[in-house]
Amino acid sequence: MYKAPRGTSDILPKEQAYWKYVEEKAVSLCQLYGYQPLSTPIFEDSQLFTRTVAGGTDIVDKEMYTFTDRGGQKLALRAEGTAPVCRAYLEHGLFNSPQPVRLYYFGPAFRYERPQAGRHRQHHQFGFEALGDADPAIDAEVIEMAQQFFLSLGLSQFSIQLNSIGCKLCQPKYVEALKQHYSAYVARLCPDCKTRLARNPLRLLDCKKASCQKIAEIAPKITDYLCHECQAHFQSAQGYLKLLGIPFQLNYRLVRGLDYYTRTVFEVEPQEEGAQSALGGGGRYDNLIEALGGKPTPAVGFAAGIERLILNLKRQNLTIPPLPAPVAFIAYLGKEAKMEAVKLSSQLRKASIAVMQAIGDKSLKAQLRQANVFGTSYTIIIGKAEIESRTVIFRDMRSGEQKSIPQTEIVTTLKQTQPLG
Ligand code: AMP
Repeated sequence: MYKAPRGTSDILPKEQAYWKYVEEKAVSLCQLYGYQPLSTPIFEDSQLFTRTVAGGTDIVDKEMYTFTDRGGQKLALRAEGTAPVCRAYLEHGLFNSPQPVRLYYFGPAFRYERPQAGRHRQHHQFGFEALGDADPAIDAEVIEMAQQFFLSLGLSQFSIQLNSIGCKLCQPKYVEALKQHYSAYVARLCPDCKTRLARNPLRLLDCKKASCQKIAEIAPKITDYLCHECQAHFQSAQGYLKLLGIPFQLNYRLVRGLDYYTRTVFEVEPQEEGAQSALGGGGRYDNLIEALGGKPTPAVGFAAGIERLILNLKRQNLTIPPLPAPVAFIAYLGKEAKMEAVKLSSQLRKASIAVMQAIGDKSLKAQLRQANVFGTSYTIIIGKAEIESRTVIFRDMRSGEQKSIPQTEIVTTLKQTQPLG
């Protein structure tokens, strides 16, 4: 028996109501803020990720799904959403439109991680990006959008963690100070942190091991090393957040898992869980587009993992609107009635009435059971007597009441009825 590959899941019909709910909230949010949809391919040149997310991060070093295609090109399944958006921005000359260009996307991302609740090898992200402007007001806009997104879903138990990790000028000075601090504790570091110290010292702050966290707690703070411009940018971004009444917590150890971030970084954390379980995160990446061969272009964005959102919706027992069921089930008894049922189902669909037709000559009881499972509001029953009298039996599935109506009145009757809510 084949199974879905480890870390991936089928999204069965009963789960789809959650996905539709999240997607509808996301699309209306983006419309409200003037963001336009963009879809990018599911695989890209692998260098798109190795050059931007960069070596020294888990995503590039341990988690990418790379393969060489039959033409010898080295490709990678989409590891994250931002680099492809920037690639498309450059490839299609979107820098020629009025800036910032505001875009959003949905799609799967692939990371070879150890699967657990809320952590998958194929997960789905909803993200939005504003490319081409350094104004801290746009950082605040993106953070407000993230906040409003979670609130619109009905999630209220979360906090927004905020930090600034500086720019090309000031970050290296901080990294130097961090290295010095950690070099006094090398013997106490976990094996991963020993590698981080050599390859990607900022990530040291993010280690979840208790012994390493103690060292992180007494590490120098990045905000003490920000250059004048980064300091002013961070203050201004916070000013806009206060103006908008958006609560946030400064978190000097927040660095995020991708290397391209500069200045503002933020994460949305559910309240009842640890730092491993961010609902979403984002920040500014002012050097990314230049790293891909474009002109220096400031940009800021956010992405949320849909599986994690749904997990939280379920944990908070939020009621999600069900997917619409067909309004009626068409049941029949006997061969002749089956012909009528097939014809009637087709006619009703052509009149834009959603119906589900019984199949397989079952007993009436079995057919009604089926109608109940599918949640149709009505069942139309056709038997021998109904064919002769050119009528049908119209059964209200909620009350169980039945009446006989002429065939000619089926369309108007169904159009007047309210499907079960
Ligand atoms: P990132 O691209 O790492 O900034 O991730 C953005 C968001 O995607 C995270 O905050 C999570 O909600 C979600 N996410 C990241 N990795 C995974 C994963 N392996 N499984 C499920 N969700 C994930």
